[in-house]
Amino acid sequence: MIIQKTESSRLSSFDKNNFNFGDTFVDHMIICEYEDGKWGDVKLMPYGPLQFSPANMTFNYGQACFEGMKAYRDANNDVFLFRPEKNFERINKSASRLAMPEIPYEVFMNGLKALVDTDRLWIPQGEGYSLYLRPLIFATSEMLKASVSYKYMFAIIATPAKAYYTKPVSVLISDYYSRAANGGVGFAKAAGNYAGAFYPTHLANQKGYDQIIWTDDATHSYFEESGTMNVFVRIEDTIYTPPTSERILDGVTRDSFIQLAKKNGIEVVVDKIPVETVVKAHKEGKLKEVWGVGTAVVTSRFEAIGYNDEKLMLPEISDEDSFAIKLKHELVGIQSNQAEDPFGWRIKVEKGFTDSLAK
Ligand SMILES: *Cc1c(COP(=O)(O)O)cnc(C)c1O
Repeated sequence: MIIQKTESSRLSSFDKNNFNFGDTFVDHMIICEYEDGKWGDVKLMPYGPLQFSPANMTFNYGQACFEGMKAYRDANNDVFLFRPEKNFERINKSASRLAMPEIPYEVFMNGLKALVDTDRLWIPQGEGYSLYLRPLIFATSEMLKASVSYKYMFAIIATPAKAYYTKPVSVLISDYYSRAANGGVGFAKAAGNYAGAFYPTHLANQKGYDQIIWTDDATHSYFEESGTMNVFVRIEDTIYTPPTSERILDGVTRDSFIQLAKKNGIEVVVDKIPVETVVKAHKEGKLKEVWGVGTAVVTSRFEAIGYNDEKLMLPEISDEDSFAIKLKHELVGIQSNQAEDPFGWRIKVEKGFTDSLAK
């Protein structure tokens, strides 16, 4: 690894009580370039802008994909990643679908660990804090030919994160727009999937909803995802989530929730969820909770679901009685080294890891 540490750390001007998620970046970033059919040396360098021409193929053809994951720091300054192999496997699935080169395991893992080790003091300590990590791969050839790029860049950047109290959201069931279709790129974290979702989401916002419940593109009659999160429905004391597919992204949080629920003796059904079933359960008073799960906020509970011209109000449920909150606390406890980790999900990043890679 090529290690180029900053001589002017910005850490002393970082105030953990006053920052916004996503616009404050840690001192360093990881860069690795692909050219002539191979990935080069991994480089740790000061965070900052890079220069690209408007002819860059990412800007023109959208050949780009990314990951989202978190690291936590405990009271001993030990820092932990959470199930990073899942993100490694997924970024390569995304890359393959977009005809981009896969990245080697060491490039991804050493890059992540080096960044987290070097900037470990940027991870705020205390309840609810973490470091959000964003690995990404994008085309860098300058060429206006609609074909695959021959040069790529892998980068990892990181932004401190805090769990703000997130109030329950209202969501609108999509009866027209789709996030994904069979044979498409919905299972991949393709940058363009997000661009395609912004406009329908904006329309939902105008109708007074925070997010969209994406339904199957063919019939719009099954629950698929919620915004950029996987979705769980609780009817009486059973929780339901749709199976992952070509259209439904295989979320790490979703998988972790399923395993944690089973460990708690909660019945989990992984099967298609007809909108009609949810509406019927609501009418009968059996619909208890519906929530989204994803790395960024872990859990987002719903207070209302818009369907046709109806607005189904979900019952108010205390934090003690909520499966969503219980599972979220257990997950964050494992992630942040506050709880036992029976699954072996937590990966400690050794102090001095970066310097051990210096050549
Ligand atoms: C990233 C993402 C998720 C959540 O995945 P996690 O691994 O849990 O963060 C769910 N749906 C979509 C569309 C996503 O892009």
